[in-house]
Amino acid sequence: MNKIWLSTPHLSGHEQKYVQQAFESNWIAPLGPNVDGFENDLCQYVGAPHAAALASGTAAIHLALAMLGVGLGDAVICQSCTFAASANPIVYQGATPVFVDSETDTWNICPDALETAIKSERAKGKNIKAVIVVHLYGMPAKMREITDICTRYDIPLIEDAAEALGSSYEGQRLGSFGTMGVLSFNGNKIITTSGGGALLAHDEHWITQAKKLATQAREDAPHYQHEMIGYNYRLSNVCAGIGRGQMEVIDERVAQRRANFAYYQKAFDDIEGIDLQPEMSGSFSNRWLTAIIVNPALCNGKTREDIRLSLATQNIEARPLWKPMHLQPVFADAPYYGANVSGKLFEDGLCLPSGSDLREESLARVVTAIKCSIA
Ligand SMILES: *Cc1c(COP(=O)(O)O)cnc(C)c1O
Repeated sequence: MNKIWLSTPHLSGHEQKYVQQAFESNWIAPLGPNVDGFENDLCQYVGAPHAAALASGTAAIHLALAMLGVGLGDAVICQSCTFAASANPIVYQGATPVFVDSETDTWNICPDALETAIKSERAKGKNIKAVIVVHLYGMPAKMREITDICTRYDIPLIEDAAEALGSSYEGQRLGSFGTMGVLSFNGNKIITTSGGGALLAHDEHWITQAKKLATQAREDAPHYQHEMIGYNYRLSNVCAGIGRGQMEVIDERVAQRRANFAYYQKAFDDIEGIDLQPEMSGSFSNRWLTAIIVNPALCNGKTREDIRLSLATQNIEARPLWKPMHLQPVFADAPYYGANVSGKLFEDGLCLPSGSDLREESLARVVTAIKCSIA
């Protein structure tokens, strides 16, 4: 039986046209027409007027924090239920991450716990420089409540939309809500540049600054003049060519991932012990990954780990949900606010194969394997 992967790169066949152009024009050096074209594609699609194509999503978060002046001793609030890349750049800047739990409707940051965290940290005299919200597996967080709180307390919002290109909330694409938005084009995301990311903003100032910082903060001078510490964070013109080919099919990719979800949902409809990540009214998820919650009491005592191991024996890759940051040894000392909803999601949650190139026979194999494992 061939291996069924969680999420694999899915090329459109249009990528090589752009990569070829880069070779033919010798725009192999960083930057060039593909970078401009890819940034333009992202702006048009997401509906944020300014974008910088970068080496990774992590780099985008790092630049956002650096530009917001996050430094030694500051606090940055971050959704606990996420990939470590959301939180690591807080530490790069010498600041302290403050983790906030999820709510059960979206699995994303709980607005009530967020407000409690802001009040308590401020009462302790902490300077909260930013809030990082994540759209888990493409599912929009409660953006109306979250943007309200950030506005009320006057704290910039960084939207980690690394998993959520193509998702929207009340008709507006994710990545366009925050002071700045972050995308990732890592190999397992909904589209890929083989590795890359982007920073988006409504205010042009952030993107001009990000592009400068991402190219070693070179000043406008004939010699190399530096007045700030910079980074080497730009996306190459070759990789951006892959991104342009991928952007031609982004809507198809979203439709294919949503079709995977619909297939699983229908298949597990009659199984009481298996629930899927909910989609609230007004929200549209790209369904980057389909995730299930397993209730062992209703699955013959079988846990998500039993199911995962059983799938592995059949050459099917499944993964537990992100282990929350407040449970990670490396962040053991960081403050945390919430009721461990994300810990429970981690305990019972499993991400299923969700690639946009999965065939129906593969989906059927996954479903059969899960049903057998709990029979
Ligand atoms: C993938 C991911 C990132 C990091 O993106 P890279 O391009 O891999 O650096 C950040 N946050 C979340 C939630 C992600 O899933």
